Amino acid sequence: MTKMICQRILLKLSGEALMSEAGGSIDADIIKRLASEIKDLSDQGIQVGLVIGGGNILRGADKASEGLDRVTSDQMGMLATVINALAMQDALEHLGQQARVMSALKINQVCEDYIRRRAVRHLEKGRVVIFAAGTGNPFFTTDSAASLRAIEINAELMIKATKVKGVYSADPEKVKDAKFYPRLTYDEALDQRLNVMDTTALVLCRDNNIPMRVMNVFEKGAIMKLMMGEEIGSLIERGTRNDQ
Ligand code: UDP
Repeated sequence: MTKMICQRILLKLSGEALMSEAGGSIDADIIKRLASEIKDLSDQGIQVGLVIGGGNILRGADKASEGLDRVTSDQMGMLATVINALAMQDALEHLGQQARVMSALKINQVCEDYIRRRAVRHLEKGRVVIFAAGTGNPFFTTDSAASLRAIEINAELMIKATKVKGVYSADPEKVKDAKFYPRLTYDEALDQRLNVMDTTALVLCRDNNIPMRVMNVFEKGAIMKLMMGEEIGSLIERGTRNDQ
């Protein structure tokens, strides 16, 4: 087996990553492709925790702006992440990869409750663990949930999936000469409001010293190349300013 740079990772996919170009909320081919990339990692002995957002179905803040109660709309958003998690569990199982959805909200006729020690045990047994329902609390995002779970399971690296190569000074799809950052610190991402993740998520990673790789996971085999030591995407780490 090839030596991998990490044994345990937390991968964060946005809900939109599952959407079809025509706007369908979950595209069967896309989810199959992502599931196959994840299975390849697991086959190499990498333990994979996964957080999938819910933005392809519903975002609490959007519904609240239409007049819905914010707590209720965030609960709807959290349930949307469970739908995506179940779809991914199914896609992984179809490929012969064991997976478990663990929800921060109790819906244990559908999936397991999130219990940290049990999640770690699943990972040790080679099962992909899909953390659903975010943090279980309104007013948070699944980026924050991903940071939290990454810390709780002692992931060595968090990978944040984007549609572009990594972190830029501005949206490269809108600004032609946006500068690409191969490496930066959490404080630089925070100070420059680089829109990588929300502030809570960035601060959680910074304070708990979890490195984060921002990269395009839609390039076939990109995560595997990263795991084999290639420099892919942007690396965000804690800078000297916070090193105590
Ligand atoms: N959400 C929440 N608490 C959490 C995580 C998510 O209330 O801890 C809700 C929130 O309404 C959010 C929705 O779930 O808008 C979907 O998550 P997110 O917007 O992070 O999904 P993504 O943008 O990654 O697809």
